Amino acid sequence: MNYHVDEKGYYGNFGGSFVPEMLYPNMIELQENYLKIMNDPSFKEEFQKLLKDYVGRPSPLYFAQRLSQKYNTKIYLKREDLNHTGAHKINNTIGQILLAKRLGKQRIIAETGAGQHGVATATVCALMGIECTVYMGEIDIARQAPNVARMKMLGAKVVPAISGSKTLKDATNEAIRAWINNPVDTHYIIGSVVGFHPYPDMVARFQSIISEEIKWQLQEHEGTPYPDYVIACVGGGSNASGAFYHFLEYKNVNLIAVEAAGKGIDSGASAATSILGKEGIIHGSKTMLMQTKDGQIIEPYSISAGLDYPGVGPQHAHLFTSGRAEFLNATDDEAMQAGLELCKLEGIIPAIESSHALAVLNKKAFKPQEVVVVNLSGRGDKDLNTYIEYFNL
Ligand SMILES: *Cc1c(COP(=O)(O)O)cnc(C)c1O
Repeated sequence: MNYHVDEKGYYGNFGGSFVPEMLYPNMIELQENYLKIMNDPSFKEEFQKLLKDYVGRPSPLYFAQRLSQKYNTKIYLKREDLNHTGAHKINNTIGQILLAKRLGKQRIIAETGAGQHGVATATVCALMGIECTVYMGEIDIARQAPNVARMKMLGAKVVPAISGSKTLKDATNEAIRAWINNPVDTHYIIGSVVGFHPYPDMVARFQSIISEEIKWQLQEHEGTPYPDYVIACVGGGSNASGAFYHFLEYKNVNLIAVEAAGKGIDSGASAATSILGKEGIIHGSKTMLMQTKDGQIIEPYSISAGLDYPGVGPQHAHLFTSGRAEFLNATDDEAMQAGLELCKLEGIIPAIESSHALAVLNKKAFKPQEVVVVNLSGRGDKDLNTYIEYFNL
């Protein structure tokens, strides 16, 4: 079984490239060039240097002693929360801006839901002096005011998406529309392992630095590069793809993907795509997504803005249906409690997305000698208001 993308852009039955005719040349340009560019030694050097000097990598692999005691197993946290801009997303935006430059692009567009990917994109555009437009649902603009302000400070233009449900999927549609109008000079930086081929593979490769580091860091700590478990939350799936990447072929490494159950799987307010979803096409790829009988997308819900995407990337759809990864989910309440527990036991305030991954510690029994790596995808500063309201702080 192969868990990486094949030549046609598929993961098993999922993936592919379903694009409007106007974007066909852009798709071909990316497909034909992304690996050539990424494998070029001077590209690698530039990427690595920025990851080190600008992002602050390698991010630590931290042995969480008190958390480990509580769950009677060995828990390590991969500290993506310590990256510049506070999450893993910057790994991908750095990679894609360097790639866009080599393709000769002069403008960047991006979509954002919670604003985290918008901020990471605006950041690298400022760094490179490239014009940046971020599409964001009108409702999200109102909900995520601090991130809108950040993007503006960084010099990006934020354009409201006023169609449909005025949230992430509508912002994505707007971004695609804008790209169709400016296909030649513009690169579209997608924020997760979603979209048409080669985006899911390209983003996974940029994020694979996470598992590349886990391997040598674990070798230092434990004398083996292979943990027993890797746990990561899944919105579109990019932090999970990066954390799983170098372990996919090693069946002894159990992979756990954690989706947001919102108010409960059967509540009608959830984002547990793999369990609730059916096969369908969204944003250019075939994957699992939440949809009505007629194939209309169902608006997802989670307390964590970064997890409420109605689909998962095609690689995750394949990992789910093939059984290579176990898909669990955590409700809002379970995630919030797990987040608070990390604060109290380790002095780390996690992003609520990452708290979903932590909630699995309560759901599965791990053996004392087992090594469990939890990918801490981001820090909780952005979520302070949600924590304050939830816990009445
Ligand atoms: C955006 C985000 C996520 C979800 O995105 P993935 O592509 O699934 O990784 C998770 N955690 C944090 C902190 C985020 O900002």
